[in-house]
Amino acid sequence: MRCPFCESDDIKVLETRESEDNKTRRRRECLRCAKRFTTEEQVINATMFVQKKDGRREEFSREKLLKGVLIATGKRPIPHEKIIHLIEDTEARLRELKISEVPSKRIGQEVIKRLKKLDKIAYIRFASVYKELDVDDLEKELDKLRGKEQ
Ligand SMILES: [Zn+2]
Repeated sequence: MRCPFCESDDIKVLETRESEDNKTRRRRECLRCAKRFTTEEQVINATMFVQKKDGRREEFSREKLLKGVLIATGKRPIPHEKIIHLIEDTEARLRELKISEVPSKRIGQEVIKRLKKLDKIAYIRFASVYKELDVDDLEKELDKLRGKEQ
Protein backbone atom coordinates (compact mmCIF):
# COMPACT_ATOMS: atom_id res chain seq x y z
CA MET A 1 0.00 0.00 0.00
CA ARG A 2 1.41 3.34 -1.08
CA CYS A 3 0.22 6.87 -0.57
CA PRO A 4 -1.59 8.00 -3.75
CA PHE A 5 -0.11 11.49 -3.35
CA CYS A 6 3.56 10.95 -2.59
CA GLU A 7 3.96 7.16 -2.97
CA SER A 8 5.38 6.74 0.49
CA ASP A 9 4.56 3.39 2.09
CA ASP A 10 4.66 4.84 5.58
CA ILE A 11 0.93 4.87 6.20
CA LYS A 12 -1.06 4.84 9.37
CA VAL A 13 -4.60 3.47 9.73
CA LEU A 14 -6.79 5.97 11.54
CA GLU A 15 -10.08 4.15 11.52
CA THR A 16 -11.51 0.83 10.32
CA ARG A 17 -15.16 0.35 9.54
CA GLU A 18 -17.19 -2.63 8.39
CA SER A 19 -19.96 -1.77 6.00
CA GLU A 20 -23.15 -3.72 5.49
CA ASP A 21 -22.03 -5.01 2.10
CA ASN A 22 -19.18 -6.88 3.76
CA LYS A 23 -16.51 -4.40 2.82
CA THR A 24 -13.90 -3.01 5.12
CA ARG A 25 -13.10 0.65 4.77
CA ARG A 26 -9.99 2.10 6.29
CA ARG A 27 -9.24 5.75 6.77
CA ARG A 28 -5.51 6.20 6.37
CA GLU A 29 -3.00 8.93 6.79
CA CYS A 30 0.33 9.21 5.06
CA LEU A 31 3.05 9.86 7.61
CA ARG A 32 5.20 11.61 5.04
CA CYS A 33 2.85 14.09 3.35
CA ALA A 34 0.09 13.95 5.98
CA LYS A 35 -2.64 13.54 3.36
CA ARG A 36 -5.58 11.31 4.19
CA PHE A 37 -7.34 8.77 2.00
CA THR A 38 -9.71 5.83 2.31
CA THR A 39 -9.22 2.29 1.11
CA GLU A 40 -11.76 -0.45 0.68
CA GLU A 41 -11.29 -4.17 1.08
CA GLN A 42 -13.60 -6.98 0.24
CA VAL A 43 -13.51 -10.73 0.40
CA ILE A 44 -12.87 -12.24 -2.99
CA ASN A 45 -15.27 -15.06 -3.43
CA ALA A 46 -12.87 -17.55 -4.90
CA THR A 47 -14.15 -21.07 -4.70
CA MET A 48 -13.18 -22.76 -1.49
CA PHE A 49 -13.61 -26.45 -1.00
CA VAL A 50 -14.39 -28.40 2.11
CA GLN A 51 -12.70 -31.68 2.79
CA LYS A 52 -15.21 -33.86 4.55
CA LYS A 53 -14.45 -36.46 7.19
CA ASP A 54 -15.05 -39.28 4.72
CA GLY A 55 -12.52 -37.79 2.31
CA ARG A 56 -15.01 -36.38 -0.18
CA ARG A 57 -14.82 -32.75 -1.08
CA GLU A 58 -17.52 -30.26 -1.79
CA GLU A 59 -17.77 -26.57 -2.46
CA PHE A 60 -17.93 -24.41 0.65
CA SER A 61 -21.48 -23.24 1.23
CA ARG A 62 -22.22 -20.36 3.56
CA GLU A 63 -25.90 -21.37 3.52
CA LYS A 64 -25.06 -24.85 4.72
CA LEU A 65 -22.90 -23.53 7.51
CA LEU A 66 -25.63 -21.11 8.50
CA LYS A 67 -28.14 -23.95 8.60
CA GLY A 68 -25.93 -25.92 11.00
CA VAL A 69 -25.45 -22.93 13.25
CA LEU A 70 -29.16 -22.11 13.18
CA ILE A 71 -29.95 -25.62 14.38
CA ALA A 72 -27.47 -25.25 17.24
CA THR A 73 -28.78 -21.80 18.17
CA GLY A 74 -32.44 -22.75 17.81
CA LYS A 75 -34.69 -21.09 20.43
CA ARG A 76 -31.68 -19.41 22.05
CA PRO A 77 -31.97 -15.67 22.69
CA ILE A 78 -29.36 -14.71 20.12
CA PRO A 79 -30.02 -11.85 17.69
CA HIS A 80 -30.01 -13.08 14.10
CA GLU A 81 -27.46 -10.45 13.12
CA LYS A 82 -25.00 -11.93 15.59
CA ILE A 83 -25.38 -15.30 13.95
CA ILE A 84 -24.86 -13.79 10.51
CA HIS A 85 -21.81 -12.00 11.80
CA LEU A 86 -20.47 -15.25 13.22
CA ILE A 87 -20.86 -16.94 9.84
CA GLU A 88 -19.19 -14.08 7.98
CA ASP A 89 -16.38 -13.90 10.48
CA THR A 90 -15.81 -17.65 10.24
CA GLU A 91 -15.78 -17.56 6.44
CA ALA A 92 -13.39 -14.60 6.39
CA ARG A 93 -11.06 -16.45 8.75
CA LEU A 94 -11.15 -19.59 6.60
CA ARG A 95 -10.38 -17.59 3.47
CA GLU A 96 -7.46 -15.98 5.26
CA LEU A 97 -5.92 -19.42 5.56
CA LYS A 98 -5.54 -19.31 1.78
CA ILE A 99 -5.91 -23.03 1.34
CA SER A 100 -8.16 -24.27 -1.41
CA GLU A 101 -9.43 -27.22 0.60
CA VAL A 102 -10.40 -26.64 4.22
CA PRO A 103 -11.00 -29.69 6.44
CA SER A 104 -14.58 -29.70 7.76
CA LYS A 105 -13.11 -30.22 11.23
CA ARG A 106 -11.31 -26.90 10.96
CA ILE A 107 -14.53 -25.16 10.00
CA GLY A 108 -16.21 -26.73 13.01
CA GLN A 109 -13.43 -25.51 15.29
CA GLU A 110 -13.74 -21.94 14.02
CA VAL A 111 -17.50 -21.96 14.59
CA ILE A 112 -17.13 -23.55 18.01
CA LYS A 113 -14.64 -20.90 19.11
CA ARG A 114 -17.09 -18.15 18.20
CA LEU A 115 -20.20 -19.88 19.54
CA LYS A 116 -18.51 -20.41 22.89
CA LYS A 117 -18.33 -16.64 23.33
CA LEU A 118 -21.84 -16.12 22.06
CA ASP A 119 -23.95 -18.73 23.82
CA LYS A 120 -22.93 -21.70 25.99
CA ILE A 121 -25.88 -23.92 25.12
CA ALA A 122 -25.56 -23.37 21.40
CA TYR A 123 -21.86 -24.04 21.75
CA ILE A 124 -22.43 -27.40 23.43
CA ARG A 125 -25.06 -28.40 20.90
CA PHE A 126 -22.79 -27.55 18.01
CA ALA A 127 -19.66 -29.02 19.58
CA SER A 128 -21.38 -32.30 20.39
CA VAL A 129 -22.49 -32.59 16.78
CA TYR A 130 -18.96 -31.95 15.58
CA LYS A 131 -17.63 -34.35 18.23
CA GLU A 132 -15.06 -31.82 19.27
CA LEU A 133 -15.84 -32.42 22.88
CA ASP A 134 -15.28 -35.80 24.38
CA VAL A 135 -17.93 -37.11 26.74
CA ASP A 136 -16.13 -35.93 29.89
CA ASP A 137 -15.84 -32.36 28.65
CA LEU A 138 -19.47 -32.38 27.63
CA GLU A 139 -20.52 -33.58 31.09
CA LYS A 140 -18.41 -30.89 32.72
CA GLU A 141 -19.93 -28.19 30.56
CA LEU A 142 -23.44 -29.47 31.27
CA ASP A 143 -22.75 -29.57 35.01
CA LYS A 144 -21.58 -25.99 34.92
CA LEU A 145 -24.78 -24.99 33.18
CA ARG A 146 -26.91 -26.93 35.64
CA GLY A 147 -25.08 -25.22 38.49
CA LYS A 148 -26.00 -21.85 37.07
CA GLU A 149 -29.64 -22.74 36.69
CA GLN A 150 -30.04 -23.76 40.34
ZN1 LIG B 1 1.93 10.82 1.13
